[in-house]
Amino acid sequence: MTEPKYRRVVLKLSGEALLGKQTHGISTDALRRITTEIEKAYHVGAQLAIVIGGGNIWRGGSDEAASINRVTADNMGMLATIINSLALQDALEKRGIPTRVQSAIEVTKLAEPYIPRRAARHLEKKRVVIFAGGIGSPYFTTDTTAALRSIEIGAQVLLKATKVDGVYTDDPKKNSKAKKYSTLDFNEAISKRLKIMDTSAFTLCMDNKIAVLVFDLNVPGNIARAVRGEKVGTLIK
Ligand code: UDP
Repeated sequence: MTEPKYRRVVLKLSGEALLGKQTHGISTDALRRITTEIEKAYHVGAQLAIVIGGGNIWRGGSDEAASINRVTADNMGMLATIINSLALQDALEKRGIPTRVQSAIEVTKLAEPYIPRRAARHLEKKRVVIFAGGIGSPYFTTDTTAALRSIEIGAQVLLKATKVDGVYTDDPKKNSKAKKYSTLDFNEAISKRLKIMDTSAFTLCMDNKIAVLVFDLNVPGNIARAVRGEKVGTLIK
């Protein structure tokens, strides 16, 4: 077995990853597929924390949410991330992987409160820690949550699993000549106006020297490859 390149990583999954063929909610098929991928990555041996979004259930700033007060809509979005986190916890534990969900919004019957030092202890004991409830404040995203948690727990890299296999010079769907970067500088990404994460998340990673690896979640084995430090996606550092 190849050793992990990183000692501690944060994996960011968007809520969409749980959609499968559905338009809303959690597809048990998609959940099973993702769990298989996480299981492979877990056995690489790095300490693994996960942030999962809530967009498959509810997204605060969306058109769908426009008639609801923004703060309320964002609070609903953060609750959606707790639902997804509990689903992921259940699926991982069924495979024998020990987990803890820590939530930024207190729901003590369902999850531990977010306590960074306790999270670190869980990680040292090889438990997967799932950070739920976003950062606990409206007007933020789960990308920002993943960036902030990476800094707080001292992760070496934020693994951003997406639908695309990296960052391109242009939109590859519109421009057939678009080229994929294998590595990228934070400053270069800014000067070329490449959209990788929302600005708050991006700035947090840049200012605190957290590398970001953008890669395709839909290629089997990719999360494990990312943890091993193999060449996948685009590494921004
Ligand atoms: N959210 C929030 N604060 C946070 C994280 C999330 O208000 O710190 C809300 C926000 O409404 C967001 C929703 O939760 O739209 C779901 O998160 P996100 O859109 O990041 O999920 P993803 O797109 O990754 O599925």
